[in-house]
Amino acid sequence: MIQTPDKVYVEEDILDHPFTQKILSKIHSAPIICVENYKKIGQEKSFNQRADEDKNSLALASKKGELIKNIGRMDHGQFYLFHEIDCKYDCEYCYLQYYFQTKVPVVFVNRDEVLKKIEELLNSFENPYFHVGEVCDALAFDDLTEFSTDIVELFSKHNKGTIEFRTKSTNINNLISIDSPPKNVIPSWTFSPKKIADMIEHKTPSFKERLEAARRCQESGYTVGVRLDPIIKIEGWEDLYQKMIQELFTRLDTKQIDYISLGTPKHNKVLFETIKKRFPASPTILGELFPSTDGKYKYLKFQRVDIYKNMISWIREYDDNIRIELSIESDEVKELVFEDID
Ligand code: SF4
Repeated sequence: MIQTPDKVYVEEDILDHPFTQKILSKIHSAPIICVENYKKIGQEKSFNQRADEDKNSLALASKKGELIKNIGRMDHGQFYLFHEIDCKYDCEYCYLQYYFQTKVPVVFVNRDEVLKKIEELLNSFENPYFHVGEVCDALAFDDLTEFSTDIVELFSKHNKGTIEFRTKSTNINNLISIDSPPKNVIPSWTFSPKKIADMIEHKTPSFKERLEAARRCQESGYTVGVRLDPIIKIEGWEDLYQKMIQELFTRLDTKQIDYISLGTPKHNKVLFETIKKRFPASPTILGELFPSTDGKYKYLKFQRVDIYKNMISWIREYDDNIRIELSIESDEVKELVFEDID
């Protein structure tokens, strides 16, 4: 499901940049619109109009601020990349819906600076971990940017340090064209049962397509990550998730899974209101979500514990040792979940 953007916005200053020209040479049918500043794209439209219409476009721009940031809520030595922002997919629970002013996915063309900075951090930290896909989908434009090719080349030279590409994309041709990929490059996919993905993960590749992409990466030598987050508690969720886990572990080699991350909805107020405005019937806000002590809307603690314990017991039917993590959960919930399971 690799698509050419409907139109491409290019900041005037970087029209002649070699990386801009490289990307434009691969896009033949889309009109090119020069703009002064990508942040102004779509300003004349309403919020909903922007969110609905501009996602099919692409903007090429130059990043003025930091291209790589330290993640405050995570351990020291964890970084996330700002080399691309926003996403062409449209998941109802995604915080990117409100996070950036513009709704156009943006690729920043100062790519050399990103690679240089990563190399600097690889040399100055003991074991840095780079997250690609916190503010974009990590592979959605990889056919145009070939970022993964540069990254694999860089990480092949460094034993220490890991980089994770978090995605829902099937854009894996660059990754799988590499012989003997390094173990410290980890593509990871977020999966939801087909019924839920169809309901709330708009414009994304299907469950089966994502699974096939992950399987092909494993076949090419990658260890992959599996993210089951957010788990949505709709009627019959147990059956849907149990079957999905069965499909996942029938197709994937558990020995080539680096970790499984489990999560449940955790919407802050802005996200909650944004979802309500764009998708008033969304199952991600209907049901049993309540404001928590940290101000986020979540399922009640005992429900989250129940969800995680169920999920872990279904996963353990296929593999006893696979590393399972809970995404942004309190220590109390982690203790309750893992006390008598592992
Ligand atoms: S694929 Fe990821 S980044 Fe893109 S809209 Fe969905 S949750 Fe957000």
